[in-house]
Amino acid sequence: MNHKNVILLGPPASGKGTQAKKLAEQLGVPCLGTGQLLRAEIEKGSAVGKEAKGFIDSGRYVPDETILKMVGEWLNENKDGWIMDGFPRTLPQAEELQKLAPDAKVIVLDVPRENLEQRIIKRRECTSCGATVAVTDLSQTRCRECGADSLVSRTDDALESFKVRYENYEELTIPLYDYYSGLGPVEHVDGTQAPAKVYEEVTNAVTMGTSGN
Ligand SMILES: [Zn+2]
Repeated sequence: MNHKNVILLGPPASGKGTQAKKLAEQLGVPCLGTGQLLRAEIEKGSAVGKEAKGFIDSGRYVPDETILKMVGEWLNENKDGWIMDGFPRTLPQAEELQKLAPDAKVIVLDVPRENLEQRIIKRRECTSCGATVAVTDLSQTRCRECGADSLVSRTDDALESFKVRYENYEELTIPLYDYYSGLGPVEHVDGTQAPAKVYEEVTNAVTMGTSGN
């Protein structure tokens, strides 16, 4: 493998979390999601965890400085490669990470907003077995996992929360793509393809270095 430090970016609900986890398993390296790391630090009661908890408890966003302190410590303990899942999310985070890990491979999952919204609209939860499934027919209520007639839609709430997350992504994260393009090659993978095909192209991008040339 050419690159064992991989930054996987993409819009919310693009499936990057699933791809990142799979890739980390295959490469035998840890996967960093900052939400998860935050929860772990808070649970441990570490200094940075306490700092973060103060912001969360008062209903504020955890600032870049706190996140970066936490990520810096994590990087110190994980020097043999890693996958970043949805981090960095802002330009200051990216600039700081660049100083700590200048050799990371950047891969972007491209999925248009309409496509992501369609995924959410087609998502159903089964109140009988708990499965989350995608329906092709929007009027479908029968669960293909357990056969019960108990599929329900949480579309309104899900679309509302997606809208907020997507707008944050547009405002804060999309500027990173230009930043990274200015530093070197950035791999773009078409995230609208089947998950197995997406994974194949993601691993190609990691192993081949640059797939396009
Ligand atoms: Zn079911």
